[in-house]
Amino acid sequence: MSAKRINITKSALPPFEEYCEEIRSLWDSRWLTNMGQKHQQLEAALREYLGAPNVTLFTNGHLALEGALAAFGLAGEVITTPFTFASTTNAIVRSGLKPVFCDIDPVTYTLDPAKIEALITPETSAIVPVLVYGTLCDTEAIDTIAKKHGLKVIYDAAHAFGVKKNGVSAANFGDAAMFSFHATKVFHTVEGGCVVYQDSALREKLDVGKNFGVCGEDILEAAPNGKMSEFHAAMGICNLRHLDAWIAARKQVVERYRANLSGVAGLKLLKEQAGVASNYAYFPVVFDGGKYTRDEAAAQLAEHGIFARKYFYPLTNNCTAYGFHGDETPVAKHVSDHVLCLPLYPELAAEDVDRICEIICE
Ligand SMILES: *Cc1c(COP(=O)(O)O)cnc(C)c1O
Repeated sequence: MSAKRINITKSALPPFEEYCEEIRSLWDSRWLTNMGQKHQQLEAALREYLGAPNVTLFTNGHLALEGALAAFGLAGEVITTPFTFASTTNAIVRSGLKPVFCDIDPVTYTLDPAKIEALITPETSAIVPVLVYGTLCDTEAIDTIAKKHGLKVIYDAAHAFGVKKNGVSAANFGDAAMFSFHATKVFHTVEGGCVVYQDSALREKLDVGKNFGVCGEDILEAAPNGKMSEFHAAMGICNLRHLDAWIAARKQVVERYRANLSGVAGLKLLKEQAGVASNYAYFPVVFDGGKYTRDEAAAQLAEHGIFARKYFYPLTNNCTAYGFHGDETPVAKHVSDHVLCLPLYPELAAEDVDRICEIICE
């Protein structure tokens, strides 16, 4: 048994000296937050990296999502998935909107477009799909439904930074997309996030919405503080330089997992999507019909100091906060009850991947 602890993830960092050099100018300017030079520089770098017309930074992904919901002036009901992190559902509820839970597709684990229309009512104002694990949903089908019913589409793309379909970044689907730059994400600013959007008229609303609602001497709305600091923006500027190499290293890890675990009875791996360049954010395995349950596998790995995570369990429509029961989304329930995400980060060694797979296959 090895004493080395392996967690689900290990945050990537730029070389120490690179970050120090990046923040040096802050000691001269003493401009530490409130949309300074680093903030502007990162927004510009992200527009370029994502090939997106508009990017507004936030202090985290959650407030970015709340900011986007507010900027579109949504009311009533929002169709969304319960197979996500609490943030998605929290943002909807905290914005005074009612989440209406739609089931997921059994292959991509994202919102199932075939089940959306039955949930649309006169109160529906938007669809909030989640690109879980960086997997794309059927964006064309969702767009068609949204156009037909006059709905906004706002993606929770927290997992999907760097994902492209036929060369187009996932940031450019729908009306807007939220990215999280939390330390555990593929690209991070320690804490941070952004909204990417197609209509530049939203810029002012998002800027006001992340700064207490301040506009001149007036307050336009009771908005929170969602500003990203210069230190966080500087981390993003550095990390963006390394991102492609980190994604390439993640790809190696994922390919090793796939080589070891493909075809093992009782294990279902995430399907690769045609035309999609993945960011290899997560490696989910569905334990179904094999000798061991997901919970038994997780416990066995933990005994060896390997800490996989049940992303996402429980479903948000099974959590106390919102008052739903989860029975309306049976596919999501099944996946949530059987899925385990294995450790995945750029530095994860091939022999550690092999060891994890051996423990799972034993
Ligand atoms: C990480 C995450 C968020 C929240 O982002 P923060 O930057 O941590 O606020 C929202 N949705 C999903 C799916 C996430 O994984």
